[in-house]
Amino acid sequence: MATDKSPDEESSEQPVPAQPAPRAKRRRYAPIKIANQIPKRRRMEIEKALGEVTETPAKWSRNGGTKNHNFLKKRIKPGTIRHIEYDLLDVDIGESWPVPVSVVHGSRPGPVVTLLGAVHGDELVGPLALTYLCGPNFMGEDRLIDPNAIAGTIRIIPIINLPGYRRRTRYFPDRRDLNRSFPGNPDSNTTSRVASGVWKNLVLGSDYIIDFHSAAKGRTNVPQIRANLAHPSSNRIARGFGIETILDSEGPRGSLRRTANENDMACITFEGGGPDEADPESVQISMYGIINILRTLRMLPGYPSKPRFRMLASGSVWIRSDQGGLLDVLAPAGSFVEEGEIVATVTDPEIPGESHDILSPVQGLLISTATHPFVNSGSPIGHLLPVKRGVSTLKSRLDDEGCLIISGSDGDPPWRDDEDIEDIAIFGEWSGGSPDAEWGPSDSVDEEEDN
Ligand SMILES: [Zn+2]
Repeated sequence: MATDKSPDEESSEQPVPAQPAPRAKRRRYAPIKIANQIPKRRRMEIEKALGEVTETPAKWSRNGGTKNHNFLKKRIKPGTIRHIEYDLLDVDIGESWPVPVSVVHGSRPGPVVTLLGAVHGDELVGPLALTYLCGPNFMGEDRLIDPNAIAGTIRIIPIINLPGYRRRTRYFPDRRDLNRSFPGNPDSNTTSRVASGVWKNLVLGSDYIIDFHSAAKGRTNVPQIRANLAHPSSNRIARGFGIETILDSEGPRGSLRRTANENDMACITFEGGGPDEADPESVQISMYGIINILRTLRMLPGYPSKPRFRMLASGSVWIRSDQGGLLDVLAPAGSFVEEGEIVATVTDPEIPGESHDILSPVQGLLISTATHPFVNSGSPIGHLLPVKRGVSTLKSRLDDEGCLIISGSDGDPPWRDDEDIEDIAIFGEWSGGSPDAEWGPSDSVDEEEDN
């Protein structure tokens, strides 16, 4: 894999918007409103969270000067980049699985942001985006990630689950899921030992964490953010990422996101594309989101780009097949579908000539679709955010195929005031308790959610 190639094929320019003109006039708007379709108790929790992020901690004060960043027993000087290897297992003999860690320690004080890819070894969008970010087009003197221009510290680990990646699987070699194992235990099973080390050595000390994922086997996700919006600093970076679809959920037990939030660290999950693929749109949007968050946190100069609208979803609707056979999905992930629209057909090679249509039960945005054609009656084939309000706003951002044009995928979205963004609430609840519960077990091991 070439690391010196930008995902933007047209040029070696960074695929992030040019710095927008400074804001001319600041228009006065009411504070961000959470649409009243979100359940009232949750709405109050989120509104409280929005009010809690204003202060800049004293440790990031410019007056204090910048200190060395102590990390993995190394002292990293301000204004420098270090590439370090971290052993996932602390052993004298046998497999230690050294993974690369890049640390950019800015010349000015600021937050510590940790970016992780491939906690699941077959989800390759994160590793690609983070590898590009560490490449010469982005990192170094006079590049976007210039340690002399940065405030704060960025830790980048493009690939955490190195053994899973090499074996092309989500899991560690003991068939356990790292993202159900945090904060881990140094005396327990292999995956739990790795989780414990990653937690103590790479995660702790972070102020903000972005964990990059893709859908699990058999499905694909439209680029989306998942965050506990009632967690104030997570809410801030979830919105700061700059894309349209935000799923409000705590994350599964033992996931990095949920465990980080329980320990007062901001953490969001990016989801984009499917496993075993390098979805270029998801890679580009990942990098766009990282830059936006670094700008939102004032770690990089320039203004973050903002979407035209955001969908804050507290629930969803599942589309299921009522027949068995082979699936042909007509509406890809990202499609806006009408109630009654045919989203897929099912045929049975054992009874040629018969075909059944699968209709969308409501109007909304398909955020995930099945990619494996084999279905039984009851198999989920699509995951839909029902949209009742903001339909015309959403439709104004559809392409010729009826798919949402996601900010960051279409050149230079204009910079906007946060108050100018229309929030569209999606009412409901997660069937089974979490966004991906209905996908059911995948790859023959229990699992309830993609991230
Ligand atoms: Zn994942």
